[in-house]
Amino acid sequence: MTEPSGPRDVVVEICVDDLAGALVADRAGADRIELCADLLEGGTTPSAGTIRSVFRAVRHAGVQVIVRPRGGDFVHDEAELDVMCADLEAIAALAPECATEVGVVLGALTPASRVDVAAMRRLLAAAGPLPVTFHKAIDATGDLPAAYEVLHGLGVRRVLTAGGPGTAAEGADVLAELVRRSAAPGAPEVLVGGGVRAAGVRSLLDATGASSVHLRAMSPSPRGDGTLRTDPAVVAGFLAAVGRGRADGAAGGPDGAVPDGDAVPDDAAVPDAAVPESRGGAAPDPAPVRTAVVAVDIGGTSFKGAVVDDAGRTVRSLAVAAGSTGAESIDRVVALLHDLRAGARASGHDVVGVGVVTPGMVDAERGVVLFASTLDWTDVPLGPILSAELGVPVEIDHDVRTSGLAESLFGASAGVADSVLVAVGTGVAASITSGGHAVRGALTAAGELGHVPAVPGGEACTCGQVGCLEVYLSGAGVARRYAALGGQPGLDTAAVVARLGTDPVADRVWSDGVRALALGLTSLTLLVDPAVVVLAGGVSRAGAALVDPLRAELAAGLAWRGAPEIRLSQLGTHGGRIGAAVLAFRAGGHGHVVDSWSRADLLAE
Ligand SMILES: [Zn+2]
Repeated sequence: MTEPSGPRDVVVEICVDDLAGALVADRAGADRIELCADLLEGGTTPSAGTIRSVFRAVRHAGVQVIVRPRGGDFVHDEAELDVMCADLEAIAALAPECATEVGVVLGALTPASRVDVAAMRRLLAAAGPLPVTFHKAIDATGDLPAAYEVLHGLGVRRVLTAGGPGTAAEGADVLAELVRRSAAPGAPEVLVGGGVRAAGVRSLLDATGASSVHLRAMSPSPRGDGTLRTDPAVVAGFLAAVGRGRADGAAGGPDGAVPDGDAVPDDAAVPDAAVPESRGGAAPDPAPVRTAVVAVDIGGTSFKGAVVDDAGRTVRSLAVAAGSTGAESIDRVVALLHDLRAGARASGHDVVGVGVVTPGMVDAERGVVLFASTLDWTDVPLGPILSAELGVPVEIDHDVRTSGLAESLFGASAGVADSVLVAVGTGVAASITSGGHAVRGALTAAGELGHVPAVPGGEACTCGQVGCLEVYLSGAGVARRYAALGGQPGLDTAAVVARLGTDPVADRVWSDGVRALALGLTSLTLLVDPAVVVLAGGVSRAGAALVDPLRAELAAGLAWRGAPEIRLSQLGTHGGRIGAAVLAFRAGGHGHVVDSWSRADLLAE
C-alpha cells in the first residue's frame, strides 16, 4: 500500500493563518504548520485565541508560531522587542496544551540588514525551551552564508530561506551552500520557502540538497471576497508531488484521492493535472479527459480566444475581428466560444468555465459590460448571455484589472500585496491592488489613470477633459503630438522613440509624455502607496527609454518619501488571456489548479 518514498523523506511545512487552515494541513498529513495572522502582510503574530485553539486541535503536525509584531521590515526597537518577548513567554506557557512539538519563528535585523545579535539573544532567552526558526528576514541580508553562521552561533534550530530575495528556485545555488553548511554539528536546519509549488519541487530539492520545504497552499476563498483559504486539494497535491503517500490514492480509485478537511468544504475532488479523470461507463474505451477553460480577451478591433488546460497551457487559440455593430460583436463572441469548445472536446478537453475580459466599465459581479465605447456596448449582460449559450459558468471582468491579477499571480508583481499595473497602450489605464485586493471603485471605474489631469489647461482629450495624462503619453497621444508639432506624420511610438537624441520633436514629445506619466504616478504613489508599479502595454516596449527617465522623474517628484519600484511586465500581452483563464477556472469551481501554474507554461503558445 505504501508507496516507496523518494531518495529521502521530505519534511513539509504549511503556512496557515487560521484554525481552519491548520486543520486542513494537519489532516492532509503535513509535518508542521507555521501559524501566522494576516498572511497578506507576510505573516504576523497570531492571537492568543488562535494559538490556543490550534494547539488543542492538531493531532499530528508540529506547530511553529510566528512572532512578528507587524508587517514591513525586520528592524525592531526596544518597545517591539518587549512585545515579542511577552508573546514568546505567552506561547511557551500555552505550549503544554499542544499534543505535538511547538516552536517559534522570528527574526531581527539591524538597520544595515545584518542579523541583530543583541535582539536575537533577548528573543532566544524569552523563547526558553522552544526551538527557534529564524524566518525569511535572512533573505534580506546581503551575505546569507555569513548570516547563517551568526545564527548557528546563536543556537537557532532552523532557518527559513529562499536563498535570497527572489524565489527559492532563483536562490538555489545559495540554498545548496547553506545545506552544505547545515551538515556541521549543531548547525541550523535549512527550511526552503519562497515560491515553492508542487510543480518544480522535486528539481528544487535535487538542486539544493534540502529536505525540508515550506509553502502556503492556498486558493481563493469560496466566500468570493478575494481572501484566501488553505486548500486541502493543494496540500494533498503537494504531498503527492514529494512522494508522500497519503495523497497518491489516484491510482487506487476515486475515494482516497484527496483527504478532504471537513472544516473547509471543498468542491473539487480531483486536484490537478497529475490525475487524469476518466469517464466511467460512457464509452467502451473511455479516453482520458482533461479539465480546461476558454479564455477570451476582447479588444477594440479583435477578439482572441484560447483553450487553456488545467496546467495553464494554451492548447488551442483563435482570433476573430470585432463586429461592425454591438450586436454583431456579441454574436461573434458566442461563435468564437462555440468553435473553441468544439475544438477542446475534439482534443479530449472538458470545458468547465469561461473567462472573458473586456475594455470599458464592467460590473463583474453581475457580468454586465456597463459601457465599452469601442464596441458600442451599453449595459450588455455579457456574462449571463454567454453562460446561457454555453451552459457553463462565465466570469467577465475588466481587461486591465485582469492583467493586473495575472501579473500579481505569475508576473512582475508576484507576491507583492500592494502594486499597480499601468497599461500604456492606445490609452492608459491602471489596475490597483491594495492589501492583496483589487480596487474596483463605486462605478467599477477605479484606475482611469489615463484621464488624471497631468497638464493644467493642457490639450483636449477625447474624453471631454483637458490635459489628461494619455493625451501626452499613450500610443495615440505620442503619434498625434509628434505629427502636430511638426514631425513626420504617420509614425508610431516605436518610430518616435527610435528618433530620440537625433530629432528634437521626438525628444520634446517624449519628455512631455514621460513627465505626464511621472506626474500621474506621483499622485498614484501618494494616494495608494504601491510597493511596485508594473508597466505593460505597447508603449512599455520602449523599455529603458521609458523606464530610466520615468524613474528619475518620479523620484524627483517625491520629496519626502521613496518612489515605488518600477518594473516592466513579465506577461506582456498574455496577461489578459492568463487572467481570463484564472477567472474561468475560479468560475468553474477549480480555482486551485492555478496554484501550480508556471510562467513558462503560461507563456508557451
Ligand atoms: Zn481624458
